[in-house]
Amino acid sequence: MDSFDNFNDSTSQYGILDDTSSMVSGYTSVRVDPPVQELDSLSLNDQSLSETPSKVALSEDDFDGVLDDLREEGAVDLPAHACSYCGIHSPPSVVKCLICSKWFCNSRGNTSASHIVNHLVRAKHKEVVLHAESPLGETAPECYNCGSKNVFMLGFIPAKSDTVVVLLCRQPCATISKDISWNAALWAPLIDDRSFLSWLVKPPSETEQLRARQISFSQINRLEDLWRDNANATLEDLEKPGVDDEPQPILLRYEDAYQYQNIFGPLVKIEADYDKRLKESQTQTDITVRWDLGLNQKRVAWFNLPKLESGEVRLAVGDELRLRYQGELHKAWEGVGHVIKIPNNVSDEIGLELRRTEGVPSECTHNFAADFVWKSTSFDRMQLAMKTFAVDEKSVSGYIYHKLLGHELEPQVLRTQMPKRFSAPGLPELNHSQMYAVKSVLQKPLSLIQGPPGTGKTVTSASIVYHLAKMNPGQVLVCAPSNVAVDQLTEKIHSTGLKVVRLTAKSREALDSSVAFLTLHRQVANHTSHVELQKLIQLKNEQGELSSNDERKYKTLVRQCEKEILNAADVICCTCVGTGDPRLAKVKFRTVLIDEATQAAEPECMIPLVLGCKQVVLVGDHQ
Ligand SMILES: [Zn+2]
Ligand SMILES: [Zn+2]
Ligand SMILES: [Zn+2]
Repeated sequence: MDSFDNFNDSTSQYGILDDTSSMVSGYTSVRVDPPVQELDSLSLNDQSLSETPSKVALSEDDFDGVLDDLREEGAVDLPAHACSYCGIHSPPSVVKCLICSKWFCNSRGNTSASHIVNHLVRAKHKEVVLHAESPLGETAPECYNCGSKNVFMLGFIPAKSDTVVVLLCRQPCATISKDISWNAALWAPLIDDRSFLSWLVKPPSETEQLRARQISFSQINRLEDLWRDNANATLEDLEKPGVDDEPQPILLRYEDAYQYQNIFGPLVKIEADYDKRLKESQTQTDITVRWDLGLNQKRVAWFNLPKLESGEVRLAVGDELRLRYQGELHKAWEGVGHVIKIPNNVSDEIGLELRRTEGVPSECTHNFAADFVWKSTSFDRMQLAMKTFAVDEKSVSGYIYHKLLGHELEPQVLRTQMPKRFSAPGLPELNHSQMYAVKSVLQKPLSLIQGPPGTGKTVTSASIVYHLAKMNPGQVLVCAPSNVAVDQLTEKIHSTGLKVVRLTAKSREALDSSVAFLTLHRQVANHTSHVELQKLIQLKNEQGELSSNDERKYKTLVRQCEKEILNAADVICCTCVGTGDPRLAKVKFRTVLIDEATQAAEPECMIPLVLGCKQVVLVGDHQ
């Protein structure tokens, strides 16, 4: 099969040379002969080809026929170096994982990462070796300077001569290397956009990919799970009884909320498991820390995370990291904190505010390690919302219940007094189509507004919220999947003169934004009528911590004050996941607007809806 492919496909396999592939020859920074330009002829003289001359005479169709016959007899086995996911096995396109000795290809198939990157991330393996018959031969990529083989850390720097590249790990070797023949600023990772660079591991041809086994995201997950107990498990083992079933497909119509929960519950769990494994595989060692004291007297550790590996995990403000001391100058220590600053164009440093100040080895600066702390909060809230939707008949109105499940219903009109003017105070005048959108949703229990970017959806949404707040009792709940979208909408709604509260996760409270003054915690801090609370806040700011007695008093007063502010508000804004915050647990929201609804996962939208809604406006881009 190999030889045949090479013969038919020799140009696409080796023929086209671009700028990067010309670097291949000097890959280990030693010039290799013959030069790359001659690979074309090399592949045609491939020894394996001359060994099986009879096969070459077959046309492609004949060949498929023969292959099918052989398959039926069970005589064809994939070679040992076939991708353990999809079976692709052309030598330039596969690499072997050095840890588990399984082979994987560099194609993405149906997933967002290439098969080899998928495997390395899921299995937490980090070292690979190329195939002996690949253009670069049986080579394990490693750092030229320190010998590290962690492919997530490795990158290349083209040296002065354009036929030579140098492999270096980003930290510390690429930054400390003073060798004049290369320029560290040109360092680029070997894994980019979740696959190996094509000059290192060639993406399989279209034809090969079409013939390969189509493996889904969830099959990969389950296969990797099986390998934990049985390294020899194959895809076929997934079909065996006892191995949990493939999740059921999403439907357009559900019998009831239990069926909905039965279908979405396992999907959310798969997503959560994957997210957890990914986050937990991102440990970084050899970190150098700069210690600082925050304005609130908390310890802040500043450091660089050389590379947020694989690019699949993005660090966000509020994420939790565990910092550990691994050196000898202090007894073992670890502490959890949340990120208060992420790399930006000013500096690459990450700021981590530690939860506890005591015991921090602030005299040590080297030999720290950082782990991501995975939190199940958002997934738990999705599961809880689906359960509430199923078991609590007051969670949403009957009409919305059936609509969400895709049932056919007579259109319903809510009896409310329509406003005379549709533009809202403090906002730009609405144009004709915006006005039409506002008018059409105010009396409908469930509506979806879609429009391409740049059509003033934020102003339209804010105008709708203004009228909903004026027309209906209780507070309007406004949310979106992302904090950025929530902040933008909060700002616009505030311009209408409505009383707005922006609820953020505790971990994001230190973050500054254009609507920081509207956040619940800031409004609590500025609530000057609570004299005793103000005293305690001042004390806490000065000392960093309160006595346990004062702390208890402080918490009670804060809760009281929060309740007052929330009750007095016209509109409460937060992320979809944020609506599961315990501070909103007792509040009922009759009216809900979800912005960027098309970018949220369905179970995510369920969280704001099950708080008693009777009227929902979904706003989103065209999909
Ligand atoms: Zn594959
Ligand atoms: Zn492996
Ligand atoms: Zn190195």
